[in-house]
Amino acid sequence: MRPEEIPGWISRALPVPDRTVVWLLDVDDTLTDTQSMHHDAAESVASELSGSMTTSLAASVARRFREVFDELLVLHQQVSTADRAALNSVKELESRVRGHQVEIQEKWGITRLFSREILLRIAVEDCGASLPPKELNRCVDRYWDHMREHPFVFPDAARFSRRLASHSMPVYLMTSSDARYRECDDGQFAYDPRASRKDKRKRMVNLRNHGISYASSFIGDPIDKPSREFYEFVFSGISRDLDAPLQSLSIVVAGDSYRSDIQTPLEICDSTIGVLCRREQSAVRVEADRVLSVGDFDMLTRMLDVIEGEDRG
Ligand SMILES: [Mg+2]
Repeated sequence: MRPEEIPGWISRALPVPDRTVVWLLDVDDTLTDTQSMHHDAAESVASELSGSMTTSLAASVARRFREVFDELLVLHQQVSTADRAALNSVKELESRVRGHQVEIQEKWGITRLFSREILLRIAVEDCGASLPPKELNRCVDRYWDHMREHPFVFPDAARFSRRLASHSMPVYLMTSSDARYRECDDGQFAYDPRASRKDKRKRMVNLRNHGISYASSFIGDPIDKPSREFYEFVFSGISRDLDAPLQSLSIVVAGDSYRSDIQTPLEICDSTIGVLCRREQSAVRVEADRVLSVGDFDMLTRMLDVIEGEDRG
């Protein structure tokens, strides 16, 4: 796609009489500032940890817990870095995260980067602290309570949600598992997909109180992004919910990770188009054949305004 083709692309994201446009939105770091939510919730973990260790050690563990997440997010969002030492350190971190979920990988065939139970265990190890599994699970429960009760919805995402609602465009959320693992006494982690999904569902439902309107949410427990199976499940769920064949729908997927949120849905369905949300980007860019990248949702809203104004004029 060439830059001059962007307006035509945007017009495909608007409904016309014989075509329903469906928006399929990622949540974490797309609609919500999950990184900042994590920083905030990590503070609440410090006070929980101080029941099991000195206040200063608890503060160090909480700080490391924040950092581990931030380092892995770079990997998830495929941010390119020329700093080889930093890259090697993140790769080593990823390998430690994998090492903590060998049994889950064997049983479910998945490895997840962001299980906070595992990230907190790594932070505890890195700070030379000691925390029994029962206490670790309790601290992470408080962390997730905080994450659910205090979502930071990006203001532009809430404005965009209102815009889609005012056009009665169907909106669905597609979100990865929060990987609510439990640490067992032998140091291994266990995974109950139903419990993990139930907790994430509560977090999604609360977004409706913070400006995000949607019909339903698809949660990656146990089948997760970016697998084909997950997106086939999502597409068939949308088709069933709207009582319309998939071929009659135009689906726009939006997310902060090309690999997790955009690549597979575009492979499955030729009419699907993608929006990559890169929060530091200052202008709309052509990312790939059927993908635009934007710095925020206001950029998209403004372009929709222009196209609609032209259509009316
Ligand atoms: Mg995301």
